[in-house]
Amino acid sequence: MSTIAILKEVQAFLDETHHHFINGQAVSTANTTFQDVFNPATGAKISQVAVATTDDVNKAVEVAHAAYKDQRWSSLRPADREKILYQLSVLVEQHAEILAQLETLNQGKSIHISRGVEVGGTVEYIRYIAGWTTKLTGETFDVSIPVPPGTKYTAYTKREAVGVVAAITPWNFPLAIACWKVIPALAAGCTVVLKPSPETPLTSLYLAKLAKLAGIPDGVFNVIVGAGAEAGQALVEHKLVRKISFTGSTLVGKKVGTAAVNHMAHFSLELGGKNPMIIMDDVATDKAIQGIMMGSFMNSGQVCAAASRIYIHQKKYDEIAAALVTAVKGLKVGAGLDETAQIQPLVSARQRKSVQHFIDQAKQEGNTILYGDQPVDQKGFYVSPTVIGHVKPDSTVVKEEIFGPVVVLIPFSDIDSVLAEVNDTDYGLAASLWTDSLDTTMRLLPQIEAGIVWVNVHVPLDPAMPFGGVKQSGLGRDFGKASVESYTELKTVCIAHT
Ligand code: NAD
Repeated sequence: MSTIAILKEVQAFLDETHHHFINGQAVSTANTTFQDVFNPATGAKISQVAVATTDDVNKAVEVAHAAYKDQRWSSLRPADREKILYQLSVLVEQHAEILAQLETLNQGKSIHISRGVEVGGTVEYIRYIAGWTTKLTGETFDVSIPVPPGTKYTAYTKREAVGVVAAITPWNFPLAIACWKVIPALAAGCTVVLKPSPETPLTSLYLAKLAKLAGIPDGVFNVIVGAGAEAGQALVEHKLVRKISFTGSTLVGKKVGTAAVNHMAHFSLELGGKNPMIIMDDVATDKAIQGIMMGSFMNSGQVCAAASRIYIHQKKYDEIAAALVTAVKGLKVGAGLDETAQIQPLVSARQRKSVQHFIDQAKQEGNTILYGDQPVDQKGFYVSPTVIGHVKPDSTVVKEEIFGPVVVLIPFSDIDSVLAEVNDTDYGLAASLWTDSLDTTMRLLPQIEAGIVWVNVHVPLDPAMPFGGVKQSGLGRDFGKASVESYTELKTVCIAHT
């Protein structure tokens, strides 16, 4: 075992009692209640955070609205906003190990994933989006309005900040997903109230401190911590909120969308997935195994885009299934701070129970556990990595999102007939196709119902590549230019002159 030591700055942050971050400072009242935050690797309490009431939410939104109205942020030159966002990326980089350890201690994930994906990816993401601050443009139009005779017109569109943005995030990639929302909103000139998952609020609160240090004016970026049913619902129903950017489950996403429509706020929903990986018979076994290990088991499968239905051509099925079992048997289960561990605990006791329930259900429905479903000799919220073979197409584990270290293998003989099965899901977030044949790739790509399709790889994201789902996996896209533009209103100007 090689467990890293916790930095003294991390311990000091954990030892603090955390309040909401409103108008540039920690805010609570005499009536504020607090909740514990846990380390998934031990089940022990590591910190405590305030729980927002509707009054706290109202206060945060009013502060963000005042900051929007007086234009303390949006009136800065775009180049100055870009510099401040870039400075935030520098501070995130300088505090990378603190943020990585906090994330691992709070969410449970491998320290390698915290360092590389959660923090390292966030630094690059902020830099990429900061660049868009100076590149938002409208269009000009030649119009043909005939009245009054002889009048000329000049018409153009302009992108203006939409206003107060409510950013609501889940617990699987707390820092990264917070930035997927907060940074494009700030790049567009909006003000923000971020509500992280109450299970994993620590890096969002740390980010707020760094944002202040970077020079983001008080009131522009606020963080409240609280339960979805009270604080989340109050936030999305607030009439001063003009855009809601939500990542989470489909069930909650629908409530969020409904609340947004009720007061005509913009909204984008990044929701669940039940993502297929299709492996054709020309794929080398070791390449397929590498793809499944990365695509299915990263962050112990708690990845919205994780490959969880693996369709394998029957010519390769036995070989790949056997090699996968060998690879999964070799995975070391352990705490995120153990640099040699490869499968970490799930985020919470609730999530462990939910994943275990899916495994039990797979057995009850007559499926074969090829490996896994083993007792894990650890404290904390562990589930052993599990491979379920020859899964029947109507099994619950083929239909529902598991969000844990569990893969289901399904053999197929004819790609054209299995495509209907692949698409027979409510979800449509991501998919991957594995083949060396360009013709097969080009023929199948248009037929796969997903917001993103990878070929010969599964799960890489890049700030430039739009990311989001179709069907019940959501509406709208994070990343790229489209994401930044989604935090703007398009204002049309038409000037009559002679
Ligand atoms: P969740 O839907 O339970 O909660 C997400 C967030 O919404 C949390 O902050 C929660 O407090 C808040 N919330 C809950 N009820 C609310 C309400 N009524 N109004 C407003 N906010 C409310 O999801 P989770 O369990 O935190 O995360 C796991 C889910 O997120 C999975 O379904 C996963 O697929 C999805 N996810 C999707 C993506 C993506 O980009 N598509 C990324 C990560 C996770």
